[in-house]
Amino acid sequence: MSTGHLTIDLAALAHNWRSLNALTACDTAAVIKADAYGLGAGRVAKTLAKQGVRTFYIAMVEEAAAIREAIGDTAQIRVLSGHMRGDTDTIAALHLTPILNSVDQIQRHFEALPDAPFGLQLDTGMNRLGLEWDDWAAVAEAALRRKPVVVMSHLACADEPDHPMNPYQLDIFHQMTDGITTPRSLAATGGILLGPAYHFDECRAGIGLYGGHPFVDARPVVRLDLPVIQIRDLTAGEVVGYGNAWQADRPTRLATVAAGYADGLHRALARGLHLWHGHTPCPVVGRISMDAITVDVTDLPEDPASLAIICEDQPVDRLAQVAGTIGYEMLTSLGTRYSRRYAG
Ligand SMILES: *Cc1c(COP(=O)(O)O)cnc(C)c1O
Repeated sequence: MSTGHLTIDLAALAHNWRSLNALTACDTAAVIKADAYGLGAGRVAKTLAKQGVRTFYIAMVEEAAAIREAIGDTAQIRVLSGHMRGDTDTIAALHLTPILNSVDQIQRHFEALPDAPFGLQLDTGMNRLGLEWDDWAAVAEAALRRKPVVVMSHLACADEPDHPMNPYQLDIFHQMTDGITTPRSLAATGGILLGPAYHFDECRAGIGLYGGHPFVDARPVVRLDLPVIQIRDLTAGEVVGYGNAWQADRPTRLATVAAGYADGLHRALARGLHLWHGHTPCPVVGRISMDAITVDVTDLPEDPASLAIICEDQPVDRLAQVAGTIGYEMLTSLGTRYSRRYAG
């Protein structure tokens, strides 16, 4: 088998949920949009449901079927994009709870499924999703009378604890919701770490569950090993890969591993990236191609059978840093060709 091996540690996932949950006195929902950040929404949901999670968030109704199948009707699945035209049948069939973001969505939901549960999202300054101040003032009373399951908003800068946007949005959220009896939710992973003022009745944990920044105390959940498919010796002066991008300045032993940009390992990673043999880093040389990466293994005492690209020594956020992006993007870019093993 020549595909990379992705190992997903479900015990670490469960541990991370318990750790985040222990930081608050409120409910901790799990955000499993985008196939649980690329890790497999069905398996992730099932694991977290066993821990006692009763509320899951996804981005769009199309993501719901696999999750409903995995967890049955025991938990609420909430849809962050709300109730779009064409969503009604799926919402009804799978018992989904849309988070309504606009007056249009509220009208659509109340007309199409007047007895179906819903939540509301308010915009407190991020200007991405949710009702703005004037719309909220106009519809709040009528909407609250129908008993939404949650009134929520989302923080734009919660991964920067000292950012003035955090207390600003907190203040706006208070102004928009103080006095209502509906459960309130403002914090995702970053907001949980900002402390109890941000917790309200429910927090919505995403990236922290999967071992990502800003939850620095997380246990790593993902490991990615790439099999070596060929090893060769170069003499000094020989060149490697597309564009002859690298030239050996010494006799070099070169390993080619089976993964590339088609597997989410962007070409931008090549500069400064290492793959790991145990705790020993081996520099990537030449360009990353669609299905192959070339690695200088001259200094290893033995030929490796595989090399790790996400491991203890190179967590997903470190890899993201090399590519100039964030852990969220690395995880959700993980390719579909890897063989997956769920551990724990
Ligand atoms: C993605 C998302 C979350 C989870 O955010 P993390 O930073 O991954 O914890 C929570 N709430 C909303 C509205 C989101 O879009």
